[in-house]
Amino acid sequence: MRVLTVIGNRPQFIKASAVSSRLRADGEEITVHTGQHYDAELSQVFFDELQLPPPERLLGIGGGTNTSQTARMLAALEPLLAEVAPSVVLVYGDTNSTLAGALAAVQAGIPVAHVEAGMRSFDRAMPEEVNRVVTDHLSRLLLCPSAAAVENLRRESVAGEVELVGDVMVDVAKLLQPAARARTEVLAPYDVAPGAYLLATAHRAGNVDDPARLRELVALLLALETPTVLPLHPRTRARLVEADLLGALEQAAHVRLAPPLGYLDFTALLCNARAVVTDSGGVQKEAYLAGVPCVTMRPSTEWVETVEAGWNVLVDLDADAARAALAITPPAARPELYGDGRAGERVVAAVRALA
Ligand code: UDP
Repeated sequence: MRVLTVIGNRPQFIKASAVSSRLRADGEEITVHTGQHYDAELSQVFFDELQLPPPERLLGIGGGTNTSQTARMLAALEPLLAEVAPSVVLVYGDTNSTLAGALAAVQAGIPVAHVEAGMRSFDRAMPEEVNRVVTDHLSRLLLCPSAAAVENLRRESVAGEVELVGDVMVDVAKLLQPAARARTEVLAPYDVAPGAYLLATAHRAGNVDDPARLRELVALLLALETPTVLPLHPRTRARLVEADLLGALEQAAHVRLAPPLGYLDFTALLCNARAVVTDSGGVQKEAYLAGVPCVTMRPSTEWVETVEAGWNVLVDLDADAARAALAITPPAARPELYGDGRAGERVVAAVRALA
């Protein structure tokens, strides 16, 4: 069995860390890093901290529009697939790297396994949603994190085999959150105390690329008042500088700007926060797992179960709604929504069976 794994951005490195070493214990895996995220803060730190095997191939393809980036990845992957001749191509999530990996593989006649299949926000304006839908319809093996994802795929009558495996990010979070929670020294540079601050992240194209939306996002963050640690994604920082909005955040007494953080420091801040304010997919889920209420700066989410469970509130960019959501006490119950933390094992077993 030779698996070619295509990854390229921060959450994909985290997800792959639950699978790669297991896959390599009893088979061959060749990892291709597309270069979608290339800064050390968004890439190398995750390989180091999560013991992810270093990628065998680096494509160095970042930047540009979604279309041109995907096209360049396709062009680079075609000869690579011919050379490596894998029995399966494994892709994760919903990025340009996911779509390019899946499409190049199918065109080469190689079956695709998709981890995190079936997620839908039902918002086709999100580039991620388009990548998810197309990848799912190209895949031979669709590995779902939740029952809702399985149901989405049944409704769309996908051609591939659908399996509920649970969420690989849960594996990583369950493994690392307990120790991270104890590392309260990580809070010191931000001058915040456990349970008395917010952790915020924002980087979705729909929130940061349009200057009018970005202004609303900044207004929301400025309205929070509670101390707020804000690790800035490079894309967000660049857009804030272009729109001349970074200064407002730098000058706000309650906002503590940070660079993008490694997984262990970020998880320490997440587990000790009073609440999380985010537009990230992964962070909504990790907040739920940590028992930290989440306010999501999006009009929709693919992680609907966290909303239904009462732990996540969608506020889009409405500052008043965000403040109201932060005042809600979440319910006592926090059922296991995305599996038991053993999704990685199931992914490996299913990929082996396919190969
Ligand atoms: N994350 C991190 N450092 C940060 C911000 C996020 O390690 O400064 C982690 C976070 O724990 C989660 C993942 O990155 O596992 C989420 O990635 P991101 O928000 O970039 O992507 P999305 O999930 O929205 O696709």
